[in-house]
Amino acid sequence: MENNNLTLKGKIILEGNIKLLTGMHIGGTKETLKIGGTDNPVIKDAFDNILIPGSSLKGKIRSLLEKKDGLYKHEKNSYIPCDCGECYICKIFGPHKSDNIKEPTRVIVRDAYLIPKEGKKQYEHLEVKAENIIDRVKGTAQHPRFTERVVKDSEFKFEVVFNVYKKDDIDLIKKFIEGMRLLEDDYLGGSGSRGYGKIKFESLKIVNKPKEYYEGKMKEVEPIPAKDLDDLIKKLNEIWNY
Ligand SMILES: [Zn+2]
Repeated sequence: MENNNLTLKGKIILEGNIKLLTGMHIGGTKETLKIGGTDNPVIKDAFDNILIPGSSLKGKIRSLLEKKDGLYKHEKNSYIPCDCGECYICKIFGPHKSDNIKEPTRVIVRDAYLIPKEGKKQYEHLEVKAENIIDRVKGTAQHPRFTERVVKDSEFKFEVVFNVYKKDDIDLIKKFIEGMRLLEDDYLGGSGSRGYGKIKFESLKIVNKPKEYYEGKMKEVEPIPAKDLDDLIKKLNEIWNY
């Protein structure tokens, strides 16, 4: 008789850098406007380290894939993430409502922290951009708003962990990489239609850790470098032994 209990076969970890090709804004908590300050700050942790929350990265990739494949519900003028528990979106990211879990969620997206450039402090990676609404008749600027952005060319270190349960989970990882490709031609954070948040995935690496690694039966595994997202898929095919 076949055993229906899913057991973990191993973990595939994708690592690399997220490089900003244009300034990015992911909003944090509003601060009171002070002179030379901003009313729309970038999110930072309790120690003022700039980061891209894992939830932002995961949510964006999920919604790009859901829109591409029509796997969302449309209710009251908004997109509702899928909660069927059976489609590839639900298997990778987990169903939107947790009472529909049929299989364990495959992906963990870590917070991506800024890598400060040599000799630079965290705050030296920030700029304040003024945005106005121009009155079409009078030609005057109204409601100036000061938005903090992480400057272009800044880099963040990202890590995505896939729990592998089945042989065809490779297709789920490839779907996620497809979402990363969509993201490179979309944007991360706010005001993307005004040019913010264009990113590129760089310095990619893939790490294969079968369950024997966690059982102490094999030594440290070497990360395998990949040139770009296409190459990442190629390397994934080469190492897949589940
Ligand atoms: Zn679903």
